[in-house]
Amino acid sequence: MKLIFERGGSGRTMQYLPEGDTPKAVLPAHLLRQQPARLPEVTEIEVGRHYAELAKQVFGVVSGFYPLGSCTMKYNPRINERVASLPGFAAIHPLQKDAEGCRGVLELAEKLLCEITGMDAMTFQPSAGAHGELLGLMLIKKYHEQNGALHRKKIIIPDAAHGTNPASASMADFDVINVPSDENGCMDMDAFEKVLGADVAGLMLTNPNTLGLFDPNVLAITEKVHACGGLCYYDGANLNAIMGHVRPGDMGFDVVHLNLHKTFSTPHGGGGPGSGPVGCKEFLKDYMPGSALMGNHPDRSVGQVRAFHGNFGVVVRALTYILTLGADGIREASQTAVLNANYLMHKIKEDFPVAYDHPCMHEFVLTLEQLKAENGVSAMDVAKGLIDHGMHPPTMYFPLIVHEALMVEPTETESREALDEAAKAFHAVRLQADNDPESLHNAPVSTPIGRPDDVAAARDPILRYTFPE
Ligand SMILES: *Cc1c(COP(=O)(O)O)cnc(C)c1O
Repeated sequence: MKLIFERGGSGRTMQYLPEGDTPKAVLPAHLLRQQPARLPEVTEIEVGRHYAELAKQVFGVVSGFYPLGSCTMKYNPRINERVASLPGFAAIHPLQKDAEGCRGVLELAEKLLCEITGMDAMTFQPSAGAHGELLGLMLIKKYHEQNGALHRKKIIIPDAAHGTNPASASMADFDVINVPSDENGCMDMDAFEKVLGADVAGLMLTNPNTLGLFDPNVLAITEKVHACGGLCYYDGANLNAIMGHVRPGDMGFDVVHLNLHKTFSTPHGGGGPGSGPVGCKEFLKDYMPGSALMGNHPDRSVGQVRAFHGNFGVVVRALTYILTLGADGIREASQTAVLNANYLMHKIKEDFPVAYDHPCMHEFVLTLEQLKAENGVSAMDVAKGLIDHGMHPPTMYFPLIVHEALMVEPTETESREALDEAAKAFHAVRLQADNDPESLHNAPVSTPIGRPDDVAAARDPILRYTFPE
């Protein structure tokens, strides 16, 4: 495919505007370009075709099945986009004073998300999940600081955790204490109890965890952390399995972050704006950066972590999503997400074994360790092979505790027929792995680009166009 720089030619334009009649801004000479920037020069049809061509190469939720575990790639209803692009929302200036409508959106979204999570206050400042984690840990740190307990440096994190958890904890200057999982894929209680003590600042937990399993010991876990003076942080990036059924606040958690760009329906995956609101219990409220509802506490707040109220458009989408579904719809969405995951798991586990074979929540993890040993076909090969069946691959090699892992999250927005089709694709790839394993090393063969060198792409990215001289 041609790049935009390779289309068009010198002097081509799609300019309709008359010459400006206002004086040109006068910049100091040393700030001026010596030569005009080398920008693409294209006509309107050329730029139109360029983007149409790009759009054809993109795979999104509307192109096909997209079971990217841990990412919750559900269909995002178009009405959310419609509402977020209303001029009163999209064209608001953050310093505008008469913004009662936008304020109302923030207040209602805060109220409803507090209701869903069992928290007492919420801020929309954090730009994404990991940013929310950092803020949540800053609240925990502030709490210990205010209680003269700065010696509490340990944050307990299970080994199945999302990688951002230990990263955020060390960024917040805590020491990460890793706890292994037991044979059921949940927190190993003996190992957990051994690390409890007066130096524990808190715990970070995802429940259901990244294996898609709900830890039945969660109440005992949060109770024990509290008993030794620590606080409990809930990673609520994926609330898709529990919203409307169980609340982190009722499971004993003091702080939680959500990913509005996963559970609450904002398109993501292309690096677009996200939102990782942080909620907390009443006793931590004063440390929060502030919100539309609670303002902020000038002496005790940890301070702003982002300008104004974060990515406001994402909050508008989330609120639209919650209001259009209603309380019953929210509950049904998570029920269906769990049902779909279990249905698909049962259909494909004959072909690819499940790492921890228990009823799952919104996602499940396969292990291809044996397949790799026997046929030389890796999780990567199977993921790439699935692309040739018209679907996006599942998440690969995560969580780290499962060898040759594929993590599948179908979401609630898929029909039974779509799940049956997906199961057929998995089955076809399994047959291919048995009958012609070599061929899978070259998959995908049906896409514009075959198998890129992902290590080189990460280490040595070419991000800048070089003009042929
Ligand atoms: C996605 C995810 C995160 C990180 O969220 P970002 O918005 O990507 O920063 C954290 N925890 C879990 C469990 C996740 O799935």
